[in-house]
Amino acid sequence: MPAKIIDGRKIADKILNNLKSKIKNMKEKPGLALVLIGDNPASEIYVSSKERAFKEVEGYCERYKLDSNIGELDLLKLVNDLNQNPKIHGILVQLPLPKQIDENLVTNSILPHKDVDGFTSVNLGHLMSGNTILAPATARAVLHLIESTGTGIEGKNAVVVGRSNIVGKPVALMLLEKNATVTVCHSKTKNIAEHTKKADILVAAAGKPKLITRDMVKQGAVVIDVGINRVNGKIVGDVDFENVREIAGFITPVPGGAGPMTIAMLMENTLKAMELANKIK
Ligand code: NAD
Repeated sequence: MPAKIIDGRKIADKILNNLKSKIKNMKEKPGLALVLIGDNPASEIYVSSKERAFKEVEGYCERYKLDSNIGELDLLKLVNDLNQNPKIHGILVQLPLPKQIDENLVTNSILPHKDVDGFTSVNLGHLMSGNTILAPATARAVLHLIESTGTGIEGKNAVVVGRSNIVGKPVALMLLEKNATVTVCHSKTKNIAEHTKKADILVAAAGKPKLITRDMVKQGAVVIDVGINRVNGKIVGDVDFENVREIAGFITPVPGGAGPMTIAMLMENTLKAMELANKIK
């Protein structure tokens, strides 16, 4: 029997509808600042969909579009202004940044309680110690999608393919926190299939189309595809969807899986950031 498809869009819409009703009854609206630098077409699409979703739930949103040759100091000044702005609870600087700008420096200039992407060293440190405050939205989306299947995580073999600071590592830490036995594979791993074939839960986050083929997947596994790749004008994931579907128990599509869920998690993070700001006040 082919795998059940995990409908990320449907799950995300339910979360967004709940958020919308919550926000409707609030006097103060959660405020999100989206900062986009340069003309990267993929970044433009990501920022626009975040802005659209945030307006849809009736949050307050400011969008900044900066020139690709902006200086580091000017960008730091904008982040500092947003840090001080009481209407803004969450700040998102869309990555990647132009070469002249130190990504780590800019990311860490965001106040941790306004860091709705969860990428500052402080928030990643909290995640590492199991005391999550604001966790990266994509990693939260992955965990949510796995849990939506009703498959327990505790005691399962989970394999994460990809070890970036923004996706692979946070996903691995969150699975570990839920008591899975976690293996992380990456570009230098020898014989990836040897690991993936043992996975009850397999998360693909490498950014390589068709990296995960049917022969690499255990019968009945939960397969979450985080990859976003453009092939011949089409968006595809990292998993050979049609063939892996024949063997997996559950699988996310691309598009329509981790993407919309990431946006829903970002909206939740912004609401949480507003609650944090009110606690600090
Ligand atoms: P990245 O390039 O920073 O990291 C990729 C990771 O994959 C690295 O750790 C690398 O070692 C590993 N890798 C690369 N080739 C490999 C191979 N052949 N075998 C095994 N491992 C390999 O990318 P990232 O920012 O972590 O993003 C990963 C993918 O997820 C991309 O396709 C990106 O577009 C997508 N993404 C999706 C969302 C979403 O909302 N759905 C959010 C962020 C990123």
